[in-house]
Amino acid sequence: MQPEHFDVVVIGAGPGGYVAAIRAAQLGLSTACVDAWVDARGNPSPGGTCLNAGCIPSKALLDSSHHYHNLRHLLPAHGIDAKEITFDLARMQARKNKVVDTLTRGVKGLLRKNRVESITGLATLSQGKRIEVALHGGKGHRILEGKNVILATGSVPIHIEVAPVDGERIVDSEGALAFSTVPERLGIIGAGVIGLELGSVWSRLGSKVTIFESLPDFLPAADRKIASQALQSLTRQGLDIRLGSRVKRARAHSQGVSVDFDDHGGASALEFDRLIVAVGRRANTEGLDPAAAGVLLDEQGRIRTDADCRTDAEGIWAIGDATSGPMLAHKASDEGVAVVERIAGGVGHIDHRLVPWVIYTHPEIAWIGSSEADLTEAGVDFRSGSFPFLANGRALAAGETTGMVRMLSDAATDRILGVHILAANASELIAEASVAMAFDASAEDIARTVHAHPTLAEALHEAALACDNRTIHL
Ligand code: FAD
Ligand code: NAD
Repeated sequence: MQPEHFDVVVIGAGPGGYVAAIRAAQLGLSTACVDAWVDARGNPSPGGTCLNAGCIPSKALLDSSHHYHNLRHLLPAHGIDAKEITFDLARMQARKNKVVDTLTRGVKGLLRKNRVESITGLATLSQGKRIEVALHGGKGHRILEGKNVILATGSVPIHIEVAPVDGERIVDSEGALAFSTVPERLGIIGAGVIGLELGSVWSRLGSKVTIFESLPDFLPAADRKIASQALQSLTRQGLDIRLGSRVKRARAHSQGVSVDFDDHGGASALEFDRLIVAVGRRANTEGLDPAAAGVLLDEQGRIRTDADCRTDAEGIWAIGDATSGPMLAHKASDEGVAVVERIAGGVGHIDHRLVPWVIYTHPEIAWIGSSEADLTEAGVDFRSGSFPFLANGRALAAGETTGMVRMLSDAATDRILGVHILAANASELIAEASVAMAFDASAEDIARTVHAHPTLAEALHEAALACDNRTIHL
């Protein structure tokens, strides 16, 4: 079979791959994008983990459960009493599925409009930049050849021997997004991003949630003061987060799941109706056969790349979760654009120091840049300014006073080095910090920027003022 030739072949249509393919087509490069994901009905479903089983369905359920929780717990303080509040989980799940469907259809449309050749099937590398695609549904094979190949094969959940996922009683994040009943007692292994987000969803809907975390510290990558307030807030909401707890064995049986674990008090056991395993994700290279093309993996099984996303094989690039760096959708997309612009002869730019993180609990936890611990370890002299939402007019009006903004700036130059936020909508507030830091702003620059009143963003303004000990409202 003769190969079909393209300027760029992208493997994977997650937020890394489909964005890279669209940008390549915009730049006039003939582009094919191969993706293996199909929905429950067997239809192609581009968008990868993010749209199908990650960012989007989790946020749909977080929003639905948040509305339910607010009706019961926030609105009475506003003088609003709703009686007999109930929810219909089947409708909630159907809405989530519709959101996913709308977005994946949108991606299909975007690929089509941009004249990207979309192919559904599993791609395997062979010598050079040749790719064999086993078409979905046993419809045979296609052979592709790209002048450049972009590997965007994403990641899959890590499964652990002590808690074998069976898809029924013991599930990973994908299973936990699809529960058709609310488990009365829900166990979760891992108090990371997924454990906290999905723990929040099911706790708001009525589960008694226990989270086992082997580390002694809560969210070690986050600012310590923010992490400690977030832990308090989540605990108040009913999440039983057990730090320093290591699960030794989880066994599913007809009535539920028995979990044996060690913690400060020694060996213990608990019974649950369901257990979610959320202990991290690993790069996905299954079926790809990277070695066939001379693409090497690092010691953690991720596709090895240089700072510009080049693999060890000439003309083959890797982006997103499949390679090193944070496993975040926006990191994958921005790497995709940068790589394609490099291929097209442009500069291609992504500042890996400035990738924001958001954890969509309530309040949300967001940060960008360095933490106090990073700066102390690096011996950087810095000053910090904080401002609590308790002293912010808009937060008080909304009844959303938990949280604060912390800003860290260079002691000599005042350049902002990190911003850390715990707030009702920290995910939106962090964008101001992202822009400021991308432009090398100083805390003084934010302090001298007029912020609308009353807004939660005024807390950023006040934190910037606080870096110079001149906050007004505290
Ligand atoms: P993926 O999205 O994993 O896409 C890879 C695609 O490649 C898949 O469609 C896969 O089927 C396909 N593929 C793999 N191998 C082959 C092959 N050989 N041939 C053909 N196709 C192949 N990130 C955020 O930034 N914000 C969030 O709120 C967020 N929430 C999340 C919630 C959950 C529950 C999970 C699990 C993840 C979440 N993430 C979030 C992480 C985010 O989903 C990933 O970082 C992102 O999807 C990575 O994009 P990617 O393009 O690298 O890979
Ligand atoms: P994670 O790395 O965020 O957290 C896993 C947690 O499990 C860690 O705290 C780890 O110490 C703990 N752990 C590991 N093994 C354990 C064990 N045997 N017993 C008890 N605890 C154990 O991983 P995750 O929550 O699975 O999420 C995977 C990745 O997906 C995230 O790192 C992130 O990149 C991405 N994600 C992002 C978002 C977002 O951006 N809002 C949401 C969900 C997922």
